[in-house]
Amino acid sequence: MSLSDHLTARIRADGPMSVADYMADCLLHPQFGYYTTRDPLGAKGDFTTAPEISQMFGELLGLALAQAWLDQGSPAPFTLAELGPGRGTLMADLLRATRGVPGFHAAMRIHLVEASPALRTAQAKALDGYAPQWLDTVDALPDQPLFLVANEFFDALPIRQFIRAGDGWSEKRIGLQDGALSFGLSPAAPQSALDHRLADTRDGDVVEICEAAAPVTQSIAARIAAHGGAALIVDYGDWRALGDTLQALRAHEPADPLQTPGEADLTAHVDFEALAMAAKTAGCAFTRLTPQGVFLERLGITDRARALAAPLQDAALDSLIAAHRRLTHPEEMGNLFKVLGLCPPRAAPLPGLNP
Ligand code: SAH
Repeated sequence: MSLSDHLTARIRADGPMSVADYMADCLLHPQFGYYTTRDPLGAKGDFTTAPEISQMFGELLGLALAQAWLDQGSPAPFTLAELGPGRGTLMADLLRATRGVPGFHAAMRIHLVEASPALRTAQAKALDGYAPQWLDTVDALPDQPLFLVANEFFDALPIRQFIRAGDGWSEKRIGLQDGALSFGLSPAAPQSALDHRLADTRDGDVVEICEAAAPVTQSIAARIAAHGGAALIVDYGDWRALGDTLQALRAHEPADPLQTPGEADLTAHVDFEALAMAAKTAGCAFTRLTPQGVFLERLGITDRARALAAPLQDAALDSLIAAHRRLTHPEEMGNLFKVLGLCPPRAAPLPGLNP
């Protein structure tokens, strides 16, 4: 039995499935899921993320979060949380960078929201000595001040895809053609969740909805609004996304999303507007989107790179320079990736972000 067999059997029994159901099975099926069964990160894996590119990323996010904590009067105890921590690299860098912030480590209670048993093991190793608590969902986060980071978490949540047809929408579905997985379309129907998109789309446009994103954001935002705190959400995407952004990556190369289910990473761009609106519903304030490159420059990445560069030469120096460029340059990750901040309505502005 493989994931392909499972998907084929499921489609034969229940008919074509939504892209969201397909993504959920591919990424998190308990037995065959991509994240459940492996560590996909790094040079030998399928993709690389900002914290894996350089320690500077986690350090600066950590200091930004610690500054927000100081600005709100150093509440204690507080939850220090990360969503989808991968190998635990960002959290390890964040913790090292914040060691000198008076009271921060004594007051923090680390919570990691992680679905993958394989990655939980990697996180435990990276955070040896810190005793983090693992949670299955954000709803289990304690009711206390919440300072949270999420890098490339929301892009892994399943999306549904719709194609505009008149005043209705056809949903993209995955069925079988000659025994192989293939895309098809449901008959067009009205979709109340997409009413706000009738004004800015035309026939044939593709719009994606991530149904899981709003409840996750609301749950975080409600804690921040009630008890104080901040969230830094970093991902690729835009305000009010448009178009088909479903993407499969395997061994750092784009792949066909239907070709090797469970063996490629599947992601979609994040619709930050949906996250911001969910936060607002929960009584939280949100910042305007800030490009990752601008955010990191404002937090002082160039000074940090200079300090790290001082003792280096040759290949090590080249690789540090390349990492700085990769994280910040507009043609690399600097512009594609955006940062959204959440904080209580009258809190001090979050460091590095457009208010
Ligand atoms: N933040 C890390 C890893 C990004 S990959 C980094 O920047 O390197 C996405 C992460 O989210 C993985 O740890 C994956 O296992 C986790 N994840 C994906 N979907 C999830 C879900 N529904 N619930 C909890 N964790 C999830």
